[in-house]
Amino acid sequence: MLKFDTNIYGNPNNFPVSPDVEKRETLDNGFSAGWAMHFPPLEEYFTDMHCHLLQVKGENYKDTFQKFQTIAETNRVAKQVVVLHLGSEPFHADESLTIDAYKPLFETIANNKNIFAYLYLHYKNPNLSLLKACHQLGIKGVKLHNAPIIEDAAPPEVYESQEWQQCFAYMEANKLPVMWHVTQRFSASTYTGVGPMSYWTKGLQNGITYGNRELLAAFLKIVAQYKGIPFIAAHQLHMSFENLTALFDTYENLYSDTTVSCSIDTYDVVQEPYRRYYKEVFETYKDRLLFGTDNIMSKTSISYADDVYKSHIRFLKQLFLTQETLTKVAWQNAEKLFNL
Ligand SMILES: [Zn+2]
Repeated sequence: MLKFDTNIYGNPNNFPVSPDVEKRETLDNGFSAGWAMHFPPLEEYFTDMHCHLLQVKGENYKDTFQKFQTIAETNRVAKQVVVLHLGSEPFHADESLTIDAYKPLFETIANNKNIFAYLYLHYKNPNLSLLKACHQLGIKGVKLHNAPIIEDAAPPEVYESQEWQQCFAYMEANKLPVMWHVTQRFSASTYTGVGPMSYWTKGLQNGITYGNRELLAAFLKIVAQYKGIPFIAAHQLHMSFENLTALFDTYENLYSDTTVSCSIDTYDVVQEPYRRYYKEVFETYKDRLLFGTDNIMSKTSISYADDVYKSHIRFLKQLFLTQETLTKVAWQNAEKLFNL
């Protein structure tokens, strides 16, 4: 016999386990107590609240969704909220955009109980009638991206225009969340395979005179103004969790996804002390963090999409979150905010 000595191995009470592990302690007079005692909490499934369908014109939507859902389901991702980049280019300001060409896409989404959509709006296209029409066709949120603002060296205050204010007022009245890519790293992110100064290089060529602090300030002004809109920051605003959680404390309608930085490769583990700190962050701000991956549904390989899911899920699983927190981050927060 080898006894499980808590003096040697540590106290299991400090590590969350699946609820059935606890049940076995007493069921059948404890016959199976300790069997599979290491099983951690299980998320049931994931809802990926940040993925993309690029250049959707002329695509066979049903095939794309089916292909992608198969990869997702293999990774226990049951539902996806997808950014629709309507128009000729993913980040093009298509001011003549009408929804007529996209009726089949919206119908496909409406008939797919596990796929939901954001409307992407270019900063030059605060199109209230398009927003209303897409809302009627079932979109669950709006995606804003500051890449074109940086590249055009446009002023970060563009969202204060009357047209944008009308759009935000509509989103607030209809409880439509906004997922917003606000800032951009200066450095490379070698680990995730991307180079330095994305967007900024072009912005500098166009004479940009401001940086991330100005973009953040303009964003936070809108967040403070529209308290009825849940604002979900993409990529943790490219800030540390120390700085991000300080913003959570100030702005109650601010959320963040887990895209990009909350990932770890198959052959890596999240090292101490980061793991312990991240666990505390997720447990403390369990209502403010949403599982998302920035996966790309079109123009991508199956192995890439699969890797993106595995690396993001692997990160979360390594934190050994409590059942309640894991459930909230994995799908519950998203389903509440987007009313899925
Ligand atoms: Zn994205």
